[in-house]
Amino acid sequence: MIEKVKSLKEEIKTKIENASNLKEINEIKVIYLGKKGAMNELTEHLKTLNNEEKKEFGKILNELKNEINQLFEEKINFYEEQELNEKLEQEQIDITLPATKIPFGSPSIIEKIVEEVEDLLMTMGYDVVDGPEVEKDKYNFEMLNLPKGHPARDAQDTFYLEGEELLLRSQTSPVQIRTMLEGKGQQPIRMICPGKTYRRDDDDATHSHQFTQIEGLLVDRNVSLSDLKGTFDCIAKHLFGNDCETRFRPSYYPFTEPSVETDISCHLCHGKGCNICKNTGWITVSGAGMVHPNVLKNCGYDPKEWQGFAFGFGAERLAMIKYGIDDVRTFYMTDLRELQNFDRKEIKHD
Ligand SMILES: [Zn+2]
Repeated sequence: MIEKVKSLKEEIKTKIENASNLKEINEIKVIYLGKKGAMNELTEHLKTLNNEEKKEFGKILNELKNEINQLFEEKINFYEEQELNEKLEQEQIDITLPATKIPFGSPSIIEKIVEEVEDLLMTMGYDVVDGPEVEKDKYNFEMLNLPKGHPARDAQDTFYLEGEELLLRSQTSPVQIRTMLEGKGQQPIRMICPGKTYRRDDDDATHSHQFTQIEGLLVDRNVSLSDLKGTFDCIAKHLFGNDCETRFRPSYYPFTEPSVETDISCHLCHGKGCNICKNTGWITVSGAGMVHPNVLKNCGYDPKEWQGFAFGFGAERLAMIKYGIDDVRTFYMTDLRELQNFDRKEIKHD
């Protein structure tokens, strides 16, 4: 009988091990532990034994029952857990809330133009210099050969603070003065000073009381107008493409002598004439010239030994020409849709 118990135990173990799902294991359980099952047969057999045998066989039978029950329990637990996991997997619900979409930012078009000019001029050895927007009259006008009462001041009327000595700078040229004073008449200078400037203008499509200048200054020995022309030509081609042509026209500024207005060939009609260039084929983009000897002297540079050239772009004007924007107020209206349009007309360089 003991042999029978052993072989039954092995038989049940193998069946349990080979069962491949919960249904099968339950079926096996009924077969062996049910009322008509093999285990019950053994229990019935127990009743036929004498007391001594009962004791011995009863112990063996109990151990078998415990062991088999544990095996069933483990296997059933295993498949129940597996079934539950499968169910959870199938019935998975996405309870996460979609994140709020944050639109990508893009640089302001003014900043972009300034950076384009900075990138080019830094490769040519220029430093980018910053200066205060609240400036002394002395630096904004007087040292730039514009003494009090000079008629050319009218064109640059600005906002005054605390009497007539402090003002919102009408140009970034005072940064040039500050840099030249630091050079103490001894050091060559290559600098640009992009920044905000102010004038007492009534705002309309082409005027704004606040605008951005990109001024450059070079001071050295043996500098001539042709150096200015070459530098301007380089900037124009960098901004408007390699087929952009440039020309100088005589002009007047108190702080340069000779002074020029600088034109680029119209990139829309390529010189044939159109609305943008008013049928001339040319578009004026900046003022420039050789630094006036008085300005050099004011800053401690001997004009017999040192020469310099200076140029000044309006960043808004450059952006308007490059991107076909017809109203300067666009830059200050904080309409984000305008920013999205700014990548549309990139000029490709060779
Ligand atoms: Zn044109």
